[in-house]
Amino acid sequence: MTFEDLGLSPETLKAVNERGYKEPTPIQAKAIPAIQMTRDVVGLAQTGTGKTASFTLPMIDALSGGRAKMRMPRSLVLEPTRELAAQVAENFEVYGKYHKLNKALLVGGESMGEQMKLLEQGVDVLIATPGRLLDLFERGHILLNDIKILVIDEADRMMDMGFIPDIEKIVSLIPPMRQTLLFSATMPPEIKKLTEKFLSNPKEVSVAAAASPAETVEQFLVHVSPKDKNNTLDIILKREDVRNAFIFCNRKKDVDIVAKWLKGKGYEAEPLHGDMAQSKRTETLQKFKDDKIKLLVCSDVAARGIDVNNVSHVFNYDVPMTPDDYVHRIGRTGRAGNTGRAWMMTTARDEKFLSAIQQLIKKEFDPVDLKQKTPSSSSSKSPQKTPEKKTQTDKAVKPSKVKEKASQKKYNDPNSSNEYDDAQGFGDDIPSFLK
Ligand code: AMP
Repeated sequence: MTFEDLGLSPETLKAVNERGYKEPTPIQAKAIPAIQMTRDVVGLAQTGTGKTASFTLPMIDALSGGRAKMRMPRSLVLEPTRELAAQVAENFEVYGKYHKLNKALLVGGESMGEQMKLLEQGVDVLIATPGRLLDLFERGHILLNDIKILVIDEADRMMDMGFIPDIEKIVSLIPPMRQTLLFSATMPPEIKKLTEKFLSNPKEVSVAAAASPAETVEQFLVHVSPKDKNNTLDIILKREDVRNAFIFCNRKKDVDIVAKWLKGKGYEAEPLHGDMAQSKRTETLQKFKDDKIKLLVCSDVAARGIDVNNVSHVFNYDVPMTPDDYVHRIGRTGRAGNTGRAWMMTTARDEKFLSAIQQLIKKEFDPVDLKQKTPSSSSSKSPQKTPEKKTQTDKAVKPSKVKEKASQKKYNDPNSSNEYDDAQGFGDDIPSFLK
């Protein structure tokens, strides 16, 4: 199937062609025709499947005919995080470049004045996080009576973040004569109930098994003691051909501590978590996308769905507490046909979480012994046959020369009985796992 077969407008096709997409992804091939027929749709798809374009492309065409009234947006896309909302707005920008559609992004942390000004002008597409939308609604700056298309994206994540009551409130403010599209990576009972309540005879479209890791990601696990985590990470970073990477911590506090430690070691690392000012988050993400930062140390919420292609590695500094998060984390690499490598450090305390992950991914890890050569194929017991794509060594992440040399020497020193025995202090910051 081609994009032409989908009957998109010439303007939208032109924008898609310029983006370089050759053919629709499976979710696009399934969802676009249903959306064009004004059906409600439940899309079971993870990020990385092309799901954003599966709703933005038909929405652009559907909205191209009309005109929005002051303060009365014609469509609404709800996103759980500011970053995801910004990414969806960018998608509308790119695919809608040959249409005259007004867009507005309503997210916390940005100036409300600017957002209100846009609303006054009338918007065709409103992309919002639930909290900020309700805030502006309650202040009387926005009316939801004219919404014809509602998208609830990342519904399972909205639930994890406690947004379901907000969503219910928002939906109750929108007229029932609308088209509703709901996307979710998984379908827990609460989300199923939500679809039954808010969608009318929806067409269900799904791609890949829910919450299964991409086949293009090789997964590795290494056992560590909590105090060895930083040095182990350092060792792995030096052994692997890391072009750029997400490093996940469970706690925001540790995100800052680990980023600081890595910077101290000479790595180009920055933290990203929800307690940072929005302008700083946007700036950090842009730097990572522009290759100015190699290592993004982050929390799950901040990194959810962030679309950066060509990320070579994901490191789980902490074992995530829910197995779905593991799948989401490692899905940051191995995207868009590239291969990726995902490492996880586990301690004795993580047994329970680790076994939940192994159950979900239906694989048992075979821990890597860092004293041995790192395997170049998956170390799990049912290896995924993924061709190894050589990443560019000249662009690989390495700390500054001097530090690297000193550390490499230590690592290569046959007389050193324990490669971790130069454990670093944390200064005044005691990571929570040591408390
Ligand atoms: P998403 O699942 O929406 O986060 O999209 C994941 C990535 O796939 C994004 O980088 C998109 O730009 C890209 N993408 C979306 N549709 C296509 C397509 N038809 N062909 C190739 N890449 C695509």
